[in-house]
Amino acid sequence: MNDFTPLARAAEHARAFLETLPARPVRESGSPADLRRALTLPLPDAGVPALQVIDDLVRVADPGLVAMAGPRYFGFVIGGSLPVATAADWLTSAWDQNAGLWVDSPAAAIVEDVAAGWLLDLFGLPAAASVGFVTGGQMANFTCLAAARHAVLDRAGWDVEERGLQGAPTVNVVVGDEAHATIFSSLRFLGFGAATARRVATDGQGRMRADALRDVLATLEGPTIVCAQAGNVNTGAFDPLEEIASLAHARAAWLHVDGAFGLWAAASPAHRHLTAGVAAADSWACDGHKWLNVPYDTGFVFVRDAGLHAGPFSSGAAYLGKEAMARPVFGNLVPEMSRRARALPVWATLRAYGRDGYRAMVERHLELAQRVASQVDDAPDLERLAEVPLNVVCFRFRPPGLPEAELDELNRRLGAMVLDDGRVYFGTTEYAGKVAFRPAIVNWRTTEKDVDLIVEVVRELGAKLLATAPGR
Ligand SMILES: *Cc1c(COP(=O)(O)O)cnc(C)c1O
Repeated sequence: MNDFTPLARAAEHARAFLETLPARPVRESGSPADLRRALTLPLPDAGVPALQVIDDLVRVADPGLVAMAGPRYFGFVIGGSLPVATAADWLTSAWDQNAGLWVDSPAAAIVEDVAAGWLLDLFGLPAAASVGFVTGGQMANFTCLAAARHAVLDRAGWDVEERGLQGAPTVNVVVGDEAHATIFSSLRFLGFGAATARRVATDGQGRMRADALRDVLATLEGPTIVCAQAGNVNTGAFDPLEEIASLAHARAAWLHVDGAFGLWAAASPAHRHLTAGVAAADSWACDGHKWLNVPYDTGFVFVRDAGLHAGPFSSGAAYLGKEAMARPVFGNLVPEMSRRARALPVWATLRAYGRDGYRAMVERHLELAQRVASQVDDAPDLERLAEVPLNVVCFRFRPPGLPEAELDELNRRLGAMVLDDGRVYFGTTEYAGKVAFRPAIVNWRTTEKDVDLIVEVVRELGAKLLATAPGR
């Protein structure tokens, strides 16, 4: 057991994988049935040598791996992992520090503190805001909205942490009609329920309409939380944050911004205007495993008022002692008590690439998105469905002469063909009631050659689909 050779072996395997990743088909190469057969082994009575386990794992799992971290994966909003981030992530595992408490690991705690300051700086958020490191955007939204629930009920004279929601004043939750699914799951976790949220109409680009928000707020009384969005997953659009902030604050409402990937626009001076007004919010959620290109699981919680952030998750257990509680207790800022030191890869990659490196990456991705948008516009059989302010291009296949009624089914089938083809990956979405594609560009490795495949593959497979469609 006192043999560390599996670590070096894993590093060799990882390197081989990462070096060949750009050339792999994006989709898995094996069938799920074969994978299950190969992986479903009896629990051994006597253990198997560790080196063999690592080698077997690589051999058996490889056909089931999707090149999600590679340059031609455009589904959802999935980043890759920069080599320095992966390396720091290995150290995170090897050092195995519990980052929940300052006393547990001064190294993990100070790295987290420094990385938090760098992120606030990069996003142009208030320097005094409180920062928590969570597993992703979902937990970031949940944590921010827990702070919001605490704050708005506290102002109404209700201690929700002690008394819960039974008998509490009603909290109005107002969301844009195109809020991310994780806002609604957060509302469920928090006991608000997803259906109680008042939905505000969006415009043709997926932005919350400020005039509609004004009308909704005018009908509400009492504690109120407004959830806005920086970066719509289908269009990349930003809600008009400046107007939303002034409407929300005029009513003493808490303003939360889901900026899972959109906050990164602030890393580019040329695009920072998209986030105008964002610093006026009360809380912000962001992802690390998207545009920062660090490994899963990394997300960030930012709360303007540190006192309100710590409310929901404080666990002043007696055995932690005075010494522990006198220092920042990171476990009080997020739902987990014990957790890995996920700030290490964040610190490492921000140091390695710097402000300039991230500005360059964001700007390159936005240029690539514009490149795809103009290819879509030039193609007679493609239709773009939204403007492209950021890194997402929303479009569909629309061969001339086909009736609207056939387009959804056609695009659905084409979407399945794209996934099956394996040169690029992006699924279908529904945007403005239409089945569409919405490739998102966030991977550090993606080049012009990679994005040029998006339109090429869709048109090639689209032509094939039309040629084989019955009745044509
Ligand atoms: C991805 C995303 C989320 C959820 O983030 P996870 O890291 O998957 O939990 C929330 N909001 C938006 C806008 C997103 O793009």
